[in-house]
Amino acid sequence: MRQRLNVQYVIIGIVCIFSLILPVSILADDGCAQTIEGNDKMQFNKDTMKVASSCKKVTITLKHTGKLPKATMGHNWVLVKTADANDVGMAGMSAGIDKEYVPQNDARVLASTKLIGGGEETSVEFDLSKLDSKEKYTYICTFPGHFSVMKGEFQIGS
Ligand code: ZN
Repeated sequence: MRQRLNVQYVIIGIVCIFSLILPVSILADDGCAQTIEGNDKMQFNKDTMKVASSCKKVTITLKHTGKLPKATMGHNWVLVKTADANDVGMAGMSAGIDKEYVPQNDARVLASTKLIGGGEETSVEFDLSKLDSKEKYTYICTFPGHFSVMKGEFQIGS
């Protein structure tokens, strides 16, 4: 009898441990490291990205699934406050391709990847702690003419 009870406790214990570990590991994989794609039609494949507020570092990987070179259809991923999206998009245009179309030394740019062309991939890692979960954030591509279409909401979830 005592033996059987022990086995039951062990099984209950294992189930409890797994139910605690599983959701955390799912969040760690899907929440803190994310991938987004850009294509030759000037589109991102996501209009919303959500990360868990428990992430310390966030890694965003940008893949260009098209074929066009970066001089004609380059893409990057730039994180800004939603209120700054338009201004940073305009400033990116004048920064030039040598600067990845990202305004330099600009505090409004919270994170940015380099500019890539078809078939390429790049990523950026940044500290989530410098963002405010009550603020609204937007990611844009700052290649000239892209930011009004290539944009999405960056959400910090609980
Ligand atoms: Zn673009």
